[in-house]
Amino acid sequence: MRTDTITQTFHADRLVHTAIGWYAMTREAYDLGPFQSRQEANDALVRHIRMHKGLNTRAASDEFCGIGLHDTDFCAKSNCARCAEANILRSSTLRAS
Ligand SMILES: [Zn+2]
Repeated sequence: MRTDTITQTFHADRLVHTAIGWYAMTREAYDLGPFQSRQEANDALVRHIRMHKGLNTRAASDEFCGIGLHDTDFCAKSNCARCAEANILRSSTLRAS
């Protein structure tokens, strides 16, 4: 079982840098961001975790576990960091062609 990360001050594995700023990925139905800096995103995530501590009863298997395919068409998250990243990538690819 994973120990709680509340005492840890930096959540590098949950911060995503995109062309429009930094996002913090949460286990809830929305992500946080975009923020100007990595520190701001991390601070928001620390506050978010503190706020949701004990409220989230999802199983450990639902936890974010690194690189995976993300289907933006079926994503149920609002303000999703992975979708933002994918959309930026898609629009920059379209501009290049
Ligand atoms: Zn998404």
